[in-house]
Amino acid sequence: MSVPREELAPERRDFFHCAIQNRDGQRCFYCHRHFRRRPMRRKTLDHYIPHRYWPAWELDNLVLACERCNSAKGDNLPWPLVWLLLNTFFRRDNWGLAA
Ligand SMILES: [Zn+2]
Repeated sequence: MSVPREELAPERRDFFHCAIQNRDGQRCFYCHRHFRRRPMRRKTLDHYIPHRYWPAWELDNLVLACERCNSAKGDNLPWPLVWLLLNTFFRRDNWGLAA
């Protein structure tokens, strides 16, 4: 079941845009393309861990993404995180079967 997204006030959205730009620069977090050099690429706020798993607007979980990357990622976990989780879970020494 998905959690309804809380409405984000424009001032808060602007705050997040500024804070994330100061932290990460003017680039899409995923494809690294510069927003200023490509004005057609609209900046969007993206929940790195999707909103359905972490239903809050918190700076630690927000990145700027171009529309293309944001819609490609959709509501899925980002691949680096999936890889990390799988790698941690499936390590032989985590099975309790290590010889
Ligand atoms: Zn992108």
